Amino acid sequence: MAELPTHLSPSSATAYEGCARRWKFKYVDRQREPSGQAALVGSFAHRVLELLCEFPAVERTLDQAKIVAKQQWPEFEQDEDYQLLELDQSKARAFRWQAWLAVSGLWDLEDPAKVEVVATEQKVNVALDGVPFVGIVDRVDRDAGKLVVSDYKSGALPGERWRKDKVQQVMLYAAALWASTGELPDRTRLLYLGQRILDVRVTEQRIEESVADLSRIWDQMAISCDTDTFEPNTTVLCGWCPFVNQCPEGQAEIDRRIQAGTLPAHAPAGSIALEPLVA
Ligand code: SF4
Repeated sequence: MAELPTHLSPSSATAYEGCARRWKFKYVDRQREPSGQAALVGSFAHRVLELLCEFPAVERTLDQAKIVAKQQWPEFEQDEDYQLLELDQSKARAFRWQAWLAVSGLWDLEDPAKVEVVATEQKVNVALDGVPFVGIVDRVDRDAGKLVVSDYKSGALPGERWRKDKVQQVMLYAAALWASTGELPDRTRLLYLGQRILDVRVTEQRIEESVADLSRIWDQMAISCDTDTFEPNTTVLCGWCPFVNQCPEGQAEIDRRIQAGTLPAHAPAGSIALEPLVA
């Protein structure tokens, strides 16, 4: 019997839905899963935008963001996960450019000098329908007196059918803020940096649906842990799974895809698939 984690975050819920086996390696066994390049670009952009919001509203300019980014970079490039990318000079330059595009992409969506920011990186820790929920809200704003939950996204805007998960995540943040402050947020905003804003009105029904889904996942996690059953979900994403060498099914999937020529060339597992499987 495995030990159920004490809390459930949106990223843990998404990971479990993606592959219960991978979730177990990370959230139950607590094995380290290094952030990939895309996630690190997002982390850097989040940090710069968080610090920018500490300035008085009129000083939240693109020039100020550039200064903050330059100040933050020396510390960020010492990050263990960033070091693991082993970028040469030209790739490091490309990384910085990508990160800057994410930061500056906020100005394609809004003028941060005109946003009434209530809090940034707001931690929430509440029980939602009995589920011990934790999360960090990127930004809480007020617009015309109403509470707004804003979430930065540095990845590509997903197609219509893939957006539900993202909206559910911010609805859970809205639910958590409602539970902890007593005030029901008016809207959630997913700010796809440099692309567009997905603006969704908060309703009690949307919150109920998102919390019900969270509760369903939590119950399934409890069953998985009780029975020590963590089913693998073999997809092309096994190519990016850092635990593939501990997963016979994932390893077989990689081998099958290599032979069929369907493993993307940039999938990291392509280079480790020939290593012996860890028992
Ligand atoms: S290799 Fe694939 S099936 Fe195995 S844990 Fe990773 S994602 Fe899941």
